[in-house]
Amino acid sequence: MLANKTCVVTGASRGIGRAIAEELGTHGAQVVVNYRSSEEAAYEVADTVKDAGGEAIPVQADVSNLDEVHEMAETTREEFGAANVLVNNAGLTVDKKFENMTREDWDRVMEVNLGGVFNCTKAYFEDIRDAEGGRLINISSVVGQQGNYGQANYATTKSGLFGFTRTIALELAHENSTANCVAPGFVMTDMLETVPERVQEKILDRIPLNRFATTDDVAGIVRFLASDDSSYMTGQVLAVNGGMEW
Ligand code: NAP
Repeated sequence: MLANKTCVVTGASRGIGRAIAEELGTHGAQVVVNYRSSEEAAYEVADTVKDAGGEAIPVQADVSNLDEVHEMAETTREEFGAANVLVNNAGLTVDKKFENMTREDWDRVMEVNLGGVFNCTKAYFEDIRDAEGGRLINISSVVGQQGNYGQANYATTKSGLFGFTRTIALELAHENSTANCVAPGFVMTDMLETVPERVQEKILDRIPLNRFATTDDVAGIVRFLASDDSSYMTGQVLAVNGGMEW
């Protein structure tokens, strides 16, 4: 279903990005498995795709570093040709109540969660624009919709993706390429494990489906967005949150 499509997934060594890379790769895509520091894990992801008959390469780049991102884009073109799909997934949290949050805590989250999205979209923009049905997919969060205690920096970056996605959708539309956001609820990954157990229990009480999302719950939606089946959707936010209101 994604045969001959080159898909770049940032932050694909662990968690949601890993599941997305494996999902796209096992559905025929050629996948760039971006990572920052988890080299061994990124190679495992590429091996999983190859074992399933697909093609994948791990590529190290810190998304907050524009030079490294441009190098990753060059490697992508050399190995697989121009990108058809970019999934901006890499992200981090530095959680603190606002009264304790420093400017450094704020800037670190901005640099990766928004700066990284700028850098990667910049480096792959022409590829996506000129592809036949190019796709930009940004991973936001329910926290960008609702806000969340102790996450002023993170929530700001995830809300920012809505305006960014909508704007890029308008700028890509005349070339028949699309940009959409996925806003997952709370997903079982290392990121959620940093949340204290008593807070996790409170969150669970707010989820009508009464469970946290699996990474595959999100990956399936990204596969749909990456495919030709989503060609008349652009500028949208797809909530994958177990029925939480916002
Ligand atoms: P995770 O388990 O902590 O994994 C984060 C991934 O991002 C890792 O592969 C990490 O790579 C990579 N990464 C972090 N900083 C990077 C950088 N500067 N450059 C390149 N890669 C970087 O996180 P996750 O839970 O899967 O979250 C993935 C995305 O989903 C994030 O954007 C997050 O905001 C969003 N999200 C998560 C949840 C949730 O509940 N988990 C809910 C909604 C949205 P290395 O290990 O190689 O450093």
